[in-house]
Amino acid sequence: MYDVKSAKAEEFICHEEVLSSLAYAEANKQNLELIDQILAKARLGKGLTHREAAVLLDCEIEEKNQEIYALAEQLKKDIYGNRIVMFAPLYLSNYCINGCVYCPYHSKNKNIVRKKLSQEEIRREVIALQDMGHKRLALEAGEHPILNSIDYILESIKTIYGIKHKNGAIRRVNVNIAATTVEEYRQLKEAGIGTYILFQETYHKASYEALHPYGPKSDYAYHTEAMDRAMQGGIDDVGLGVLFGLERYRYEFSALLMHGEHLEAAFGVGPHTISVPRIKPADNVNLDDFDCIDDDIFAKIVACIRIAVPYTGMIISTRESQQCRERVLHLGVSQISGASRTTVGGYAEGETEHTEQFDLSDTRTLDEIVLWLMQMGYIPSFCTACYLAGRTGDRFMALSKAGQIQNCCHPNALMTLKEYLMDYASPPTKALGEEMIRNEINNVPNEKIRDIAMRNLAAIEAGKRHFRF
Ligand code: SAM
Repeated sequence: MYDVKSAKAEEFICHEEVLSSLAYAEANKQNLELIDQILAKARLGKGLTHREAAVLLDCEIEEKNQEIYALAEQLKKDIYGNRIVMFAPLYLSNYCINGCVYCPYHSKNKNIVRKKLSQEEIRREVIALQDMGHKRLALEAGEHPILNSIDYILESIKTIYGIKHKNGAIRRVNVNIAATTVEEYRQLKEAGIGTYILFQETYHKASYEALHPYGPKSDYAYHTEAMDRAMQGGIDDVGLGVLFGLERYRYEFSALLMHGEHLEAAFGVGPHTISVPRIKPADNVNLDDFDCIDDDIFAKIVACIRIAVPYTGMIISTRESQQCRERVLHLGVSQISGASRTTVGGYAEGETEHTEQFDLSDTRTLDEIVLWLMQMGYIPSFCTACYLAGRTGDRFMALSKAGQIQNCCHPNALMTLKEYLMDYASPPTKALGEEMIRNEINNVPNEKIRDIAMRNLAAIEAGKRHFRF
């Protein structure tokens, strides 16, 4: 056995253990008795081991697969209610010194225009995002120690939090930048970031090395151990993800859950979120070189993640189409992006230059997405209160597991939706939203909180803002 606190990547993502879990899942994919036992454990809502979840992912008994989907849907409703958290990515710079073969930012690609936003350009981007109604951003940047230095990222975060425009303000900045040192993670924490997100891309070491032939990101161990360093630097909300399509999805699924198990064992808190990006067409990237997964497998992966780690938020981006997003929202996704641009400067300037990272499938406006969510019975939430009130890491998980988040999140979602409707919505979105708030406010379980929320909604109507539990 190894010491979890100082574990190395190849210990906590042990290749032999992944292979043995895959063999176990393969051997048991028709084992009705075992699958029933795993489902019974899953119904308790306390999660599964990666090995148990791997069996569900492989399960070939049709009737049991229907139970898996129904359970994922039930857990989603029990824990997250009908709220969906909204965010948008903000691309700061596409300069990059890495060689990731699936990403057009790789340094040898001469086709795309390289661009880095100045602080004034960031202001313009953020105002454009605020004018849509966004409150939560995910910062994205290629890896470049000089052009995209930590000082540049920290200055950009300060700029973003400092912008007050009409009734808008960005209240949570999540960060998706390259793996870095404990000291730089500490600086990010001090700058007030929300979640630190870093996709593993692939957990399969040999494939990882082939897909990242040069640059700092080519170091598998340094990349895989990044979340340990982030947590050592004080960041307690970390977001995992793999880029589906790079390796065999079964391998990625088990290893991703093993990574979560490691963080839980070493730091007492698992990942705050898991993202499930699939590879998309991009400049200088040939999809024929990759083994893309289809929508059915994708839906099963989402359902099995939801069952395996019920309290970990799940994120889906505009890489996916409206139809695909609709399907997986029911199965476990709790956060979605809307009206995203993967171009550098794309919100304020539009698509003027060829700087984008990959093609998007869902290109609707934020207003269209908000309306669509409400038509399906979801409450789009612009809330960032947990983070602002210090409910992060193990404190968030403890409250969430005790069912207490429901008493905060539901009314907060309604209040932030109300603000959105007042400040940004089109007439049809406003009409449906107001009706939804009137119906939903009665579902707040605690009577006292319900009364306060009602008073706050009236105050928002009268022009006041920022009421939260
Ligand atoms: N610079 C950071 C790093 O290197 O880890 C991450 C920022 S990058 C803008 C965000 C993510 O986009 C990557 O981690 C990768 O998974 C994803 N990505 C890259 N190329 C893609 C493609 N062709 N299709 C879909 N997603 C892609």
